[in-house]
Amino acid sequence: MTEHAPLRGRPARTLRRLALAAALMAGLTVGAAATGATASATALQTGHQPAAAADCSAGYVGLTFDDGPTGQTAALLSALQQNGLRATMFNTGQNAQNNPSLVNAQKSAGMWIANHSWSHPHLTQMPQSQVLSELQRTQQTLQQITGTAPRLFRPPYGETNSTVRAVEQQLGLTEVLWDVDSQDWNGASTAQIVQRAGSLQNGQVILMHDGYSTTIAAVPQIAANLASRNLCAGMISAATGRAVAPTGGGGGDDDPPPPGGGSCTAQISPGQQWSDRFNLSVGVSGTNDWIVTVTVQYPQEIIATWNGSPTWDSSGNVMTMRPNGAGNSFGFTIMHHGNWNWPSVSCRTA
Ligand code: ZN
Repeated sequence: MTEHAPLRGRPARTLRRLALAAALMAGLTVGAAATGATASATALQTGHQPAAAADCSAGYVGLTFDDGPTGQTAALLSALQQNGLRATMFNTGQNAQNNPSLVNAQKSAGMWIANHSWSHPHLTQMPQSQVLSELQRTQQTLQQITGTAPRLFRPPYGETNSTVRAVEQQLGLTEVLWDVDSQDWNGASTAQIVQRAGSLQNGQVILMHDGYSTTIAAVPQIAANLASRNLCAGMISAATGRAVAPTGGGGGDDDPPPPGGGSCTAQISPGQQWSDRFNLSVGVSGTNDWIVTVTVQYPQEIIATWNGSPTWDSSGNVMTMRPNGAGNSFGFTIMHHGNWNWPSVSCRTA
């Protein structure tokens, strides 16, 4: 599995000041809000399933459903919820864009949202620029819908190579294949799908699909089988690509919701972009007295902000923004250093 251990140890604050100084010397306008934003995303959701009183002493397995959302997604989510199961949904960007409400339904049902390319092509037959486009467009679309950029990617058909892996690394994505193939895509019966799931061991991942009634019909029996073996449905770790105990809400985000989260919503929107940096804006609704946390992904740096009062944690990756009298939206500029993912944002009332 791909390792994404970030290389730390750099004085982020100093670098940000230097970058800001350089940007100022280069004549970059840092004071003006600059977005023609149309797309937006709900950034804070609490679609958290209470864990059933399950015995997980034998560990966790990763249930995955590819190619959604589809016309069967609602039925699949209903089956999973009724049986107390959470799963990782590898959506295509195309399907997500066509059915954003179903992506939010996945997240609200406690599922983790992951990237399965834009159009489900054979990536290993594409030049790197097209592979990047397939993955990046999907990242941006899923982030716009859910407020969180996925951390997991499954290449269509499980086809990967060094080009695909280079793009995954560029976008901060962990490649997830599977240990067990349910063969639901290949005409397997419900009994056969259940039987194959019965071979799952701690940490392993099973390939299933959104869109087959045979698969949906298998869900209650899969739940019963796992419970009989003291296994639970877990999330897939972005650090290892293996199934582990859930630690947070849905949306593919491993981070727990912010403490004391009040009732407000932060929506992130795109702005102007250049070769080395891009602007984003965040609109807050629900309160005038907000605290928004913006977490960028290493090695990104925020080099300028406007219409808010920022403070920083010691890592330099987490910006806490409060109102400065300029209203309920603020903006900032990110030096991407090769990572184009949007930061995660969350809102709480002060
Ligand atoms: Zn697929």
